[in-house]
Amino acid sequence: MLPVCQQKITTYNSASRVLHPDQLNILLDKNGQKLSCHNIKISSQFCCCPAKATLTTNVLDLTLLRCLLINFASICPPNSNIRLAVDDLIEYRNKLYGHAQEARCSDTDYIQYKNKIETTILKIAKSCNKESEMKQKLKDAEVRPLDETICQQFQNCLLYDIQHHEEIRKEIHMLREQSRQNNEQMVQCLSKIDETTEGMHTDVKQTREEIKDRYDNLSGNLEETLTIWASKLGILDHSTARILEHRNDQTFVETSGLDNARIILKDQNLLVLLAKGGSGKTQIALHLASIYQDDGYIPLFFSDKDVIKFKDLISLDEKTLVVVEDLFGRSSVDFYEDDHRNILDTLSSF
Ligand SMILES: [Zn+2]
Repeated sequence: MLPVCQQKITTYNSASRVLHPDQLNILLDKNGQKLSCHNIKISSQFCCCPAKATLTTNVLDLTLLRCLLINFASICPPNSNIRLAVDDLIEYRNKLYGHAQEARCSDTDYIQYKNKIETTILKIAKSCNKESEMKQKLKDAEVRPLDETICQQFQNCLLYDIQHHEEIRKEIHMLREQSRQNNEQMVQCLSKIDETTEGMHTDVKQTREEIKDRYDNLSGNLEETLTIWASKLGILDHSTARILEHRNDQTFVETSGLDNARIILKDQNLLVLLAKGGSGKTQIALHLASIYQDDGYIPLFFSDKDVIKFKDLISLDEKTLVVVEDLFGRSSVDFYEDDHRNILDTLSSF
């Protein structure tokens, strides 16, 4: 291949360029002595420059190596074994390292790829008559200890992992604590709700009992009141009927006894009529009742102990005349301390 200055093409075509100026800079010493055949009219800065004195394969990256091999090495023509092997190596490098999705691979894949790569490398080595040397190098590489840089990276990875795990541990602890607190709060809330519900239950129960008591009381009172009124109406009817009968009785004669009775009743508010049977006590009582009835009193006739039984019928708000018949017995006068004292006390109390 001719240097640029010796070629007949006068216009430089960048599309046909094989090496980039940066790559040329790696390979060539542009300050070195140019070849004597160099045409100084050509301004290309790398034309006819010597290779760098420090140049070794170590400073060549994969792309540049491939470029040099494919374009300038006579042992690497298209479709040759070496060319195919180089392409395979480039593909493995890109697939497994350059464009890998993650920095890991399974043991099975590792062994498979390692075998493929070793086979490919040995193919190239065989073409270069360096098969046994390369076999040894591959064996050495297998048991080679990690170099310092990789060790450092590995250590950094481990430290990062430890730190990351510690953060995760703290996070889990915090979440656990939070969850515990939430749980406790929930339990407290539930317990409060329970208490409130219990309280409401008790309140409702009490209220229901109170309402029932009041209803029972009202029912009882109403029944009692109705009974009292029914009894009072009965006694009043009976008393009025008897007084009316007396008014129609033309045979009654006013006596001095009646006059005395009227005076005592007026003065004392209490009168006890004692006389023999058939001597007219009832007629006097009926007559007094008719007089008081005319005066606006309500006459109520009771048979001895009934006055105790129905004493609630006697209203203090109304003008009432109470007549108790046969208080001390029908035929003779018998005084029973307990019974009669009670009746007289009751009558006196009005
Ligand atoms: Zn030149």
